[in-house]
Amino acid sequence: MIPAIHRPAQINVDLDAIRQNVQNEMKNLDQDQQLWAVVKANAYGHGAIAVANTALRAGATGFCVATLDEALELRRYGIPKPILVLGIVPEKWAVLASQKDISLTVGSLSWLEKAQSYLTSENSKLKIHLGIDSGMGRIGFSEDDEFVKANEFLKDNPNFEVEGMFTHFSKADSADTSYFEYQVKRFNHMKDLLTIKPKYIHVDNSAASIFKRPVKSDIVRYGIAMYGLNPSSAPNNKDLASQVSLKPAMTFTSELTFVKQIHSGYGVGYGVTYQADSDQWIGTIPVGYADGWQRSMQGLEIKVGDTYCPIVGRVCMDQCMVLLPKEMPVGTKVELISDNPQAPNFIKRVADRANTIHYEIACLLSDRLPRVYK
Ligand code: PLP
Repeated sequence: MIPAIHRPAQINVDLDAIRQNVQNEMKNLDQDQQLWAVVKANAYGHGAIAVANTALRAGATGFCVATLDEALELRRYGIPKPILVLGIVPEKWAVLASQKDISLTVGSLSWLEKAQSYLTSENSKLKIHLGIDSGMGRIGFSEDDEFVKANEFLKDNPNFEVEGMFTHFSKADSADTSYFEYQVKRFNHMKDLLTIKPKYIHVDNSAASIFKRPVKSDIVRYGIAMYGLNPSSAPNNKDLASQVSLKPAMTFTSELTFVKQIHSGYGVGYGVTYQADSDQWIGTIPVGYADGWQRSMQGLEIKVGDTYCPIVGRVCMDQCMVLLPKEMPVGTKVELISDNPQAPNFIKRVADRANTIHYEIACLLSDRLPRVYK
């Protein structure tokens, strides 16, 4: 999609905040721990290349992405460090990954067997991380037998270098640590079955690291907290406190493109879900659900000039409307998402309104919105 640069609407990304977040986390780590920046999904909507370069300068020593294409994009832009694809890549792309020195996640013996047929014919060697499903129920080895066979298969195998073994926690952001502990136990059990020696054993995401979960991780796969957001997804400001200072990096801004007065009985938006009961001023913002600004934003208070105003009527595909306290000029600045955790339009409050989590709000902001860096 082409970014709309001839429209007053943009995502602003404070790269210095990202730098600070990486450096603050690195101070929190042991000497022998590394931070790998998770820049999948266009760096959670912040812009993969700009974020990756910032994280690299701040001290990140590797990167995690979701797809091979995201990894290739980083290589194309000259990112020189290890890159791990966290999702499963079809075996036929194993050679391409090896040529670009991209590490892939492996979660089954059958994947290894198939990938080897491609690698052997090209005389290639692929770096892999063994993914363990310790309780997320998503991808990875979970059966002892298969994992033991995979170890045998990989021993002295010229086509694979086992760079890592890892798992992913499903509840490291919760005050209740029982399921987290269960996952640690499952992972440690699988670790005991290892007969090969990966360079890195890693388990930490942002939550496990910043909430100081007592578990050893050679690499911290640092995602949401690098963007300055607390991983805890509790609604209504009930987050667990981060041990590391976090500076939110993103705001979403626009301007009023149209302002008019409406009178009692006048409707606003599709389905007329809002009807004026008096003379009122309505402002229009050129942003809608095609930008990732969802229909559930109806009722959210966003900042127009210096005033918080509710979105009224249904959010349209490309525009939405706000109820103004008085006439305001076209061109008045609008802040749809604030970087101030206390503001009613901080990304967590936006997520609360959409009945989702801040990760999803950030990722869904579409490519139509230009990313502007400061
Ligand atoms: N590791 C894996 C396997 C992931 O899937 C993710 C994100 O979804 C992360 C690390 C980063 O998680 P977070 O953004 O919570 O730090």
